[in-house]
Order: sequence, then C-alpha cells, then structure tokens
Amino acid sequence: MATLNILIIVCLAYVALLFTVAFLADRRARRGSAPWLGSPLVYTLSLSIYCTAWTFYGAVGYAASSGLEFVTIYIGPTLVIIGWWWGLRKLVRIGRSQRVTSIADLISSRYGKSNTLAVLVTILAVIGITPYISLQLQSITLSFGIFAGIDGGSREVAGGITFWVAAGLAVFAILFGTRNLDVNERHYGVVTAVALEAVVKLVALLAVGIFVVWGISGGVGETLARIDASEIGEWRMDGGRWTTIIFLSAAAFVCLPRMFQVMVVENDDERHLQTAAWAFPLYLLLMSLFVLPIAVVGLDLMPGGANPDLFVLTVPLAEGRGGLAMLSFLGGFSSATSMVIVAAMALSTMVSNHVVMPIWFSLRRDGASVSGDVRKIVLRARRAAIAGIIALGYFYFELSGRGTALASIGLISFAGIAQILPALVGGIFWRGASRLGAMAGLVVGFLVWLYTALLPGLGSGLVPASVISEGLFGLSWLRPYALFGLAGLDPIVHSALWSLALNTATFCIVSLFTFPSPLERLQGAQFVNVFDHSAGPRGWTRSAAQSEDLMIMSQRILGASQAQALFQREAERQGLPGHLPDPTPDFLSRLERELGGSVGAATAHAMVGQIVGGSSVSVEDLMAVANESAQILEYSNQLEAKSAELARTARQLREANEKLTQISLQKDGFLSQVSHELRTPMTSIRAFSEILRDDDMLEPAEKKRYAAIILDEALRLTRLLDDLLDLSVLESGQVNLNLKQGSLSGVLDQAVATALTGAERKLAVHRRKADEQIPLHTDLDRLTQVFINLITNAQKYCDAPNPALTISVHRVGGALTVDFLDNGSGIPADAQSMVFEKFARVAAEKAGGAGLGLSICREIMVRLGGDVTYLPDRGGGAFRVSLPMALDVAAQ
Ligand code: ADP
Repeated sequence: MATLNILIIVCLAYVALLFTVAFLADRRARRGSAPWLGSPLVYTLSLSIYCTAWTFYGAVGYAASSGLEFVTIYIGPTLVIIGWWWGLRKLVRIGRSQRVTSIADLISSRYGKSNTLAVLVTILAVIGITPYISLQLQSITLSFGIFAGIDGGSREVAGGITFWVAAGLAVFAILFGTRNLDVNERHYGVVTAVALEAVVKLVALLAVGIFVVWGISGGVGETLARIDASEIGEWRMDGGRWTTIIFLSAAAFVCLPRMFQVMVVENDDERHLQTAAWAFPLYLLLMSLFVLPIAVVGLDLMPGGANPDLFVLTVPLAEGRGGLAMLSFLGGFSSATSMVIVAAMALSTMVSNHVVMPIWFSLRRDGASVSGDVRKIVLRARRAAIAGIIALGYFYFELSGRGTALASIGLISFAGIAQILPALVGGIFWRGASRLGAMAGLVVGFLVWLYTALLPGLGSGLVPASVISEGLFGLSWLRPYALFGLAGLDPIVHSALWSLALNTATFCIVSLFTFPSPLERLQGAQFVNVFDHSAGPRGWTRSAAQSEDLMIMSQRILGASQAQALFQREAERQGLPGHLPDPTPDFLSRLERELGGSVGAATAHAMVGQIVGGSSVSVEDLMAVANESAQILEYSNQLEAKSAELARTARQLREANEKLTQISLQKDGFLSQVSHELRTPMTSIRAFSEILRDDDMLEPAEKKRYAAIILDEALRLTRLLDDLLDLSVLESGQVNLNLKQGSLSGVLDQAVATALTGAERKLAVHRRKADEQIPLHTDLDRLTQVFINLITNAQKYCDAPNPALTISVHRVGGALTVDFLDNGSGIPADAQSMVFEKFARVAAEKAGGAGLGLSICREIMVRLGGDVTYLPDRGGGAFRVSLPMALDVAAQ
C-alpha cells in the first residue's frame, strides 16, 4: 500500500506538471510569445497520441501472443505519413481553408453541410471510441493494481481507482479543452502537454527496453538468442491479417477523431507534415524497438499466469527496480491520459456542434441571436459531452467485465472508425461523390461492422452463441463470422473486408446514381480542388490568414495593383503602414462593396463571409449569386447584340464604300464623256478656222458656210457648257429656288411658245386649257425649263410624218401630273430606264444634243418636290411630270 500511496502522489505531481505546462503554453500562445509552440517537433510529438496505452502495454502482450504482428500497427501510419503525405497535405489544407473543427465537420461540409451526415459520423465515432477509452481506463487501473498488489483481484479497489482516474481525466480535458472557445478549435495547452507526455512515454519504454536488453539479458546478442529460443521465434506470418491490420491502422491514423484533431485541426503549418513524415516513423520505430525483447524476457522471467500486457511494468518490478517501474508506469499513464483527453475533446466538439447545438437551436429559435448566451451553451455542451464520453468509457469498462485482451478491442475500434474512410477519401478526390452516397455507405459499413465485429466481439453474451454458429434467424449466410458464406477467415479480417467492401460499393453506386445539390457541388469543387483556390502553405495566425486570404481573393477579382492599393490605403488608415490591414468590420464592408462592383454584391458577400466567418453559404446566398450570374449573362447577351449591330454597320460601310468606288468610276466615265463631247465641236471649229485662215482662194459663199458651221459648233459648245454648269449646280444642291405664284397654263404657254420659236419642223401641240387652270407656287422658271425641254425633245425626236404632242393635266389632291405624249415611235423598252442618265442618248440622233436634257429635268423636278418619268406603252414618246402645287420649302 505504501507504494500505492507514493504512486498516487507521483501521479498527482505529474498531472500538476502537465497542468502547469498546458497552462503556461496556453498563456504564451495567447500572447504570441512562444514560437516553439507551433514547431514541427511539437506537431510530430502530438501525433504520438496514436500510441495509446494499447501500444505502450498492449504491444508487448501482442508480441507475446502473435510475434511480430504487433508491427503492423506501426506500419500502417508509417505508410500513410510517408507514402500518402500529399493526401494528408490536402486534408490539412482543406481543414484550414474550410475552418474545419472535426472529422464530422469535414465530412458534413464536404457533402453540402449536411448535419445528418455529421451526426452519423459522430455516432459512429462515439460508438467506436468508447471501448477504446475504457481500454485506457483499464490499463491505468491494471497498472495501479500492480503497484497496489491487487492484480485485478479486488474489484472494489480497482473500480474505485478507475472511477477516480476517469474523473481526473474528465476534469483535465474539460479544463484545457474547453477553457475558451476558439473559432479554429486550437488548443495549444493541451497539444503541448500531449507532446510532453509523448516524450515521457518514449523515454519510459526505451528505459525499460535498455534495462531488459543490457540489464537482464546481458547484451544485444544474448537478447537475439533468447528471442530465437523462445516460442515467439516460431511465430508465422498470416498474410491476410497483416494486410488487413496494416490497412486498418492506416485508415485509423487518418480517420480517428483524435488523430484528425492533432493532425489537421491543431496543425499550425502545412510544412510541419514534411518533418513529421520522417520524424513520426522514427518515433514509432523507437517505440517498437524493444517490444520483442521485453516480451521474450517477460515470458522467460515471469510466472506462468502473468499478464503479458503488463510486462513493461512487472518485469522491472520483479527485478526490484522500483524507480524504473515508476517511470514505466508514468509512460503508460501518459499514453492513456493523452489519448483520453484528446479523444474526449475531439468527440465533444463533434457532439456539441452537431448534436447538442442543433437541438438547442431548434428548441430556442428566438433566443439564438444572443451571442454571449450561445457561447455559454456551447461551452457547457462541450463540458457535458467530455464528461459523458469519459463516463461512457467508464461504464463500458464496468460492464464489459474488464477481461478482454487489449489488442482485440483496439482492432475492432479501428475497423469501426475505418468506415469513415470511403466518404473521406472519396470526398476530397472525387467531385461526383454525393451526400446520399456517403450516408448510405456509412450506414451500410457501420451496420455490417456492428454485426460482424463489435457485437460478437464484446463477448458477455451480447450475441447469443446460436447466432454466431447458425446465423441470425437460423440463416446460415447471416453468421457474423461467416457473412454470405465467407467462412474460415479471421474475424477481424472478415469484418473489415465485408464492411469496407460493402461500404465503398454502396458509396460509389449511390453517388453515381444521385445528383448532388448545388451547395454540395460547390463544396465538392472546393474540396477536390483545394490547392487551386486556397492560400499557400504558410503558417497563419487567425487574422493574418484572413487578411492574406482576403488579399489573394481581391487580387484575383480586382487585379493585383488595385487590390494592393486598396489594402495599402486601409492599412494606413488603421495605422499599420507596410502591413496587411486587420479585417475590421468597417474594412470588410468596404471591401465587400469594392468586390461587389466586379462580381455582384451577393457573390462578394458570400466570398468574404467564407473567408472571414467560415460562414456557410446559405441557399439564399446561392440564389443571389445565381441571379447575378443571370444578369451577367444578360449583359453578355447585350454585348453580343451590340457586336452583331457593329457587324451590320461594318457591312453597310463596306457597301457604301463599294458604291463610292462605283461613283468614282462613274465620275471618271463622265469626265471622259465630257471631254469627248467638247472635243467634237472643238475639232470642227479648229479645222474650219484653219481653212479660213490659210486658204485665200475660198469662194465667199464657201467662207460664209464655214463661218456658219463654226458659229453653230460654238453655239453647241456654249449650250453644252451651259447644260453641264446647270447640272453641276443642280447636283451639288446649291440651287437657289426662286419661288413664285403662277398658274400652270401660264407656264405651259410660255414653254410651248419658247420651244416652238424658230423650229424647223412644225409640231402640233394639243392642250386642254380648261384643265390647266391650276395655281402654282413653285420655281416657275425652272418648271418652264423642264417643259421646254420635253416639248423640244418631242419636236426633235418625234419621227411621225405629222408630229403632234398632246399635253394633258391631272390633279390629284395637292399634287398634279402633266403628261407629254407625242405620236412618234417613242423610246425602246430597253433604253427607257437610262434616258434620264447623263449623256444618255438612244441612238446617234441627227438633231441630238449631248444627252443631258432629261438628266437636268429630273434634277430640277426632284428639287421642286416632284419627278419626271417615262410612261411606257403609250404608243409614242410619253413623259410624265409630277409635282406638288405648292412647294413646301421647309420640307426641302
Ligand atoms: P438631248 O439633250 O440630247 O436631247 P435628252 O436627255 O433630252 O438628250 O434625251 C435623251 C434621249 O432620249 C435622246 O437622245 C432621244 O433619243 C430620246 N428622246 C427624248 N425624248 C424623246 C421623244 N419624245 N421621242 C423619242 N425619243 C426621245
């Protein structure tokens, strides 16, 4: 009993030391004055909670019964941390970017923030871990018992010890795991204490090992010889069990809530994984180095019935090394306490976040807005959950009869936790993985594991022997150890095989056949492509990380220079020039506005919220984002329409250009025609003038004739030039109209008189004067010019023997038409459309002009608001002049 008392005092002193270390670490971390807290060494040591009392004591027992098989427990994690570090890195990055608080939280947020899924994982974890916790309590109790000399005999004393140990652990976990609420769920104090315990348990095991090898056996060679001589030396390897246990321990290393807590949630810097990748396997190697020697020496030294699980303790005691035994006891105590504390903390986060809080919120919808209130509730929920979980472990320990070998419970636990693996790995690598798939897989795997491993493994008649031998309801294919007729396998291999195979198959098949919700797809993309849109692997403190993330996001949206300028301005405003500004509410709303200009307010809000609050994207947020996308789509449609319009304009421009080119060609043609027209009369003028000048012998009559020709040609030239001038004035639009009042008959009278004066041929003109009494208000002179031209043309070109011209007038409202119809053969159909063009002449006319008359007529009539057209099929040359009675100058 005296030893027991010393032991209790040592224990209390050790716990006090842990308290002090944890307390100081917490305080330092809050002040930011202990950079070593976030060092890769502490991180690696904290990972050692993988080695629990099961490993500390149990490995030796395991080796004593199954030889080298205990090594599989170490190979699994080693393979993961060395061979799958990229996967772990991805997990850590996701944990950081999504501000994940537990493995249940990770699974739930991957699959569209499904709380049902989180509850499922939580239940699975609690059920899987409870036996494991009781295992730790058992090991502490057993080790106490050894010192007290009880050796499991007196239940009352042992039970009392277990109770006090459990209570002490609960107090420790509550004090350090729930002292304050950190958004990131970081617990520097606990992690530091765990690291210290890692050192203690390693030193203890090494010390016992060294003592056994050199103190008892007398050296390495002798030890090896002992191993060879012992029954362990005859041990043979079972490939199926090896593969299964390696796989299960690898899966557990990733999926165990406490491992996830230290590896992902408490991770300070992604790069620590690089150190852990070699340092942690080294730690495991050192932990396993002396397991076999201790087992062999223990088997040799200890009496027949001694529990090999406790050789680490009993061998030094038997050799009279009390101090070493005490150290060894502290090692085992450290292994158990660190595991229980971290596991309880991790599980309590899951229970309070996914079970208690949702229930509390649904009960008190209105009160949820008071934040202080919520804080208190969360802390209480956590504390209650820790106490509850450890209590569960305690009750399980009490109920299970304390007899089960440590190793088998540990493996059953591993197989249960491994059920999370498909949903986890699928979630971070496969975008198609869906919530329903994950749920179905988990449920199927969980039930199969429950039926094939947990329930029958618990012993104590939980599953009747008849069910085990004949199957449920007598169905032989439902035998727990030979499901679907697969008999002859080791139970743990059998269970792991069926549960994980059915779990994975269900997960994949249901995922393939279900369609993920928008939020699930969004989260899925963020998880799978986490390296594409999260900040680099640098260490972070909360606000710095936020500012950095905000900066990166802003740069992407606003462009580097604008974002930098914005952050610089803000930093100066906050009095932090040269640093990143703090994400104050004021700055955040400004930033949101700024980003909103580029991506829309809702998107900006959701993005900033994601980074700062770790807030979830609600369906409303998503709808708003969708609306914005629709607007952007509409805008892009408008742009498309605009560009179509531009294309149309370009086409029009091209057409106009072609027209201009054509007009330019026409102009060239016109010029060459003009020069041709000018040259003909000039040539004859020149020729006859030369004759008159040079030939003195000319008859007077001849002289006169030549002079007359010269005069004629000169007149023709003058007329031509007059016409050209007139046309160019009309075409350039610079005509000054001289509007006057008059009557149509007056205009016609004058035109007929002028046209017929001096004409060689007689042209009979028929008119109905009564129709012509129409008042006009227009440029009478120009109109007369048009009429003269038409009458002259009839006189010139009408080829009838008795040429006659009928002028008929019609009045339609405010407009009138004047038709000039002669009795000649008219203009042939194919030439009718071109007679109004410049220089257009139907044939080489005898009395023909230059072909400008009708062009001038049309130009004039257009100016006067009317037109002149040719009337086909009227039995002779037929022209129609149409014009308004009064010209509205304003409309011109
Ligand atoms: P020009 O100034 O040479 O008379 P116009 O432009 O007035 O030229 O007329 C163009 C051509 O239209 C003439 O060369 C002639 O062949 C034809 N033309 C015009 N009026 C008549 C008509 N009343 N009957 C037959 N042909 C006509």
